[in-house]
Amino acid sequence: MQKFDTKFEDFLKIEVAEPNFEEFKNDYLKVIDEFKKAKSAEETLQAIRDSFALDDALSTQYSLISVHHTIDTRDEKYNKWNDMFDEIIPQISEYGNKINELILNSPYRKEIVEAFGELFIKKLQVQLKTFSPKVIPLLQEENKLTSEYTKLISSALIEYKGQKLSLPQMGKYCSSKSRSERRKANKLVLKWWKDHDTEVGKIFDKLVKTRTKIATKLGYKNFIQLAYDRLGRTGWNEEDVKQYREQVVTNIVPLANKILEQQKERLGYGDDTQYYDYKIFYKSGNPQPKGDKDKLVNQARKLYKQLNSECSKYFNFLIDHNCVDLEAKPGKAGGGYETYLPCLKTPFIFSNFNGTSGDVDVLTHEFGHALQAFLSADIEVPMLRSPGYEVCEMHSMSMEFLAHPKMELFFGNKADKYRYYHIASALTFIPYGTLVDHFQHEVYENPKMTHKQRKMKWAELEKIYNPLINYDKAPFLKNGGQWMRQHHIVTSPFYYIDYTIAQIVSLEFLCESYNELKTSEKAEKTFEKYLKLSKLGGTMDYKELLEASNIKDPMVKPNQKDVASEVVKILDTFNPSELDKAR
Ligand SMILES: [Zn+2]
Repeated sequence: MQKFDTKFEDFLKIEVAEPNFEEFKNDYLKVIDEFKKAKSAEETLQAIRDSFALDDALSTQYSLISVHHTIDTRDEKYNKWNDMFDEIIPQISEYGNKINELILNSPYRKEIVEAFGELFIKKLQVQLKTFSPKVIPLLQEENKLTSEYTKLISSALIEYKGQKLSLPQMGKYCSSKSRSERRKANKLVLKWWKDHDTEVGKIFDKLVKTRTKIATKLGYKNFIQLAYDRLGRTGWNEEDVKQYREQVVTNIVPLANKILEQQKERLGYGDDTQYYDYKIFYKSGNPQPKGDKDKLVNQARKLYKQLNSECSKYFNFLIDHNCVDLEAKPGKAGGGYETYLPCLKTPFIFSNFNGTSGDVDVLTHEFGHALQAFLSADIEVPMLRSPGYEVCEMHSMSMEFLAHPKMELFFGNKADKYRYYHIASALTFIPYGTLVDHFQHEVYENPKMTHKQRKMKWAELEKIYNPLINYDKAPFLKNGGQWMRQHHIVTSPFYYIDYTIAQIVSLEFLCESYNELKTSEKAEKTFEKYLKLSKLGGTMDYKELLEASNIKDPMVKPNQKDVASEVVKILDTFNPSELDKAR
């Protein structure tokens, strides 16, 4: 197993070894042997700790390779090594699984619970259900298919203005202030998707069938509960989500519609308002941050210095040690992420800056994740360092809003223009995210649907969650093609609803900090509450974490409604058409 040193200067210069399956296997077998030979509680706990160290080393090496691979998907070495890991991980799961079984069947259960907590055992039980050696070939197939999709999307090059641009690089033109540029850019992007419709449809169809097979082989009715278990969801179930989605339709969709109607009015295209017009929130263009990447990073240093000393320390660490790769480049995988490398005790932030306000959101959102990783780094049990994704996204999305008072740093006198846009976008996002979730439930409940039927289902559901959209001039979207562009649907099934749950909680943080700022200079209390949640990591269940941090659960009535009415009060303090006039 590769050894790592936490005292590195330049993240990108850390040497990575070629993945070696035999070596991993032998290391795990050694731990299994140690476990079997353990004759006391101490020896058993030591074996468990050794298995933690192995898991950490494995995930550090994997993440390092994955970081390099996503920075340049054309790099042959990392491409190959990444593929090797796709093969290795499911095989290693077999040994990890054996260790889990040994832990669960250990005569020293009491001592194990004392040392690592009850939740550790509960999580192992759920994890155990999600794996069996007999599904290894299918897991490998699943990994291969998701990689195929990622490679296809990141290889996309669109010729525009004499340049060859990747899909994320087109983002800037797709939301251009100039309507003709917007129309052209969006048309080109949609053409790429239309040209790859069949290919993506095939990959996804194979994936749905593979995932369903895995689920039934493991004894599940279909893939849905398996996906929930894989995500380690221990606090809520399918039925809770169903009711949650209904609440979104009741509480949030009307609010989102109102925002979209006002937007339509501001834009002034009347009944001719097209889907691509909604990409600009203001007629005068969306607020753009001032300056290039280095400038934005510098402003972010100031932001965190003003907000909180812990934030400042960790943000500076990331930048000074090259633990970020921020700019969009050809060959780079799309999207943005934060990943934690336990043996290096640092997170890494990956994004595709493209000159939009989304760049600022990366500096707050991904850093929110990173901060939590730093704050929970000393939690001994790897799987308890971070909570379920719905709570992880609370760390990130709430940071976006906690940074609101300092947005002048990025947007100068347009800070209000950004703030209103940001809050409104959060509200319009929730129905979309819920739609993504609803769609996935339909897909995996009916795995035999054809590609065409899936698209029809998407189009049908879209009318519930986003009734105002106009796809008249975009048959690809009208026929329900949008979901193919949502890479989570392909690569991280059932993850998306977590964003919406977290978004509602982040709005709760927004409301509290705005209220606090009415009477004090800094929203310190709100910030403390936020840090408390982050520091708890994943040491508690969803409901317990929310309770311990005094956060209202958006799945429980009437919390969603309450947050919605508080946000409306904040929205009403802005005058979007005035903001639009300020150029
Ligand atoms: Zn996130």
